[in-house]
Amino acid sequence: MIIVLLGPPGSGKGTQGERIAARLGIPKIATGDVLREAIRQDTEQGRAAKVFMDRGDLVPDSVIVGIMKDTLSSPATAKGAILDGVVRTVPQAEGLVRLASELGRKVDKVLLFDIDDEELVRRLSGRTVCEDCQTPYNGREPGSTCRKCGGKLVRRPDDEPAAIRTRLDVYRSQTEPVIRWARDHGLDMTTLDAKGKLDDVTDRAMKALES
Ligand SMILES: [Zn+2]
Repeated sequence: MIIVLLGPPGSGKGTQGERIAARLGIPKIATGDVLREAIRQDTEQGRAAKVFMDRGDLVPDSVIVGIMKDTLSSPATAKGAILDGVVRTVPQAEGLVRLASELGRKVDKVLLFDIDDEELVRRLSGRTVCEDCQTPYNGREPGSTCRKCGGKLVRRPDDEPAAIRTRLDVYRSQTEPVIRWARDHGLDMTTLDAKGKLDDVTDRAMKALES
């Protein structure tokens, strides 16, 4: 079973992806992890990706799709995989659907994590990090004291409300075409209410996967 997770930063899809993966007994695969692993193993795709990353550029769609091909050909994903962050663009979605069919598989489900911007701003701006030991905190104000080292908690520039709104705008402008593409190409997609308790969201996701 190949499941694709789509959702904005802060929607909890990473956490939910891990929980769904544990329940289904299949691996959760995040693009970032796979890229790092390909680089560590010095694969052909890993070397290609590294050139772009070292320059601070986005890794091109073709390289992402190549890495997904390696991943979905490996025995570890024989039973299936949950793909998190893999289809950020239409070419990546096209590439994934094509390579799945080349491998005699298909994308069985797209789960779209739906949550409103206000809630995302609230969640993301509630994150702080110790400026000394980098311990992350949730729901503690900037300026508070780190429980581990006594350092000062700061908010990452990325988590300032204005920056969050920019990140969400980027996400929406990138993802809307992917959602349209998925609908137009008959992919089985379920919009998931991503608000509420962790367990409730997991239950909703499992229900969507069983339907
Ligand atoms: Zn600290």
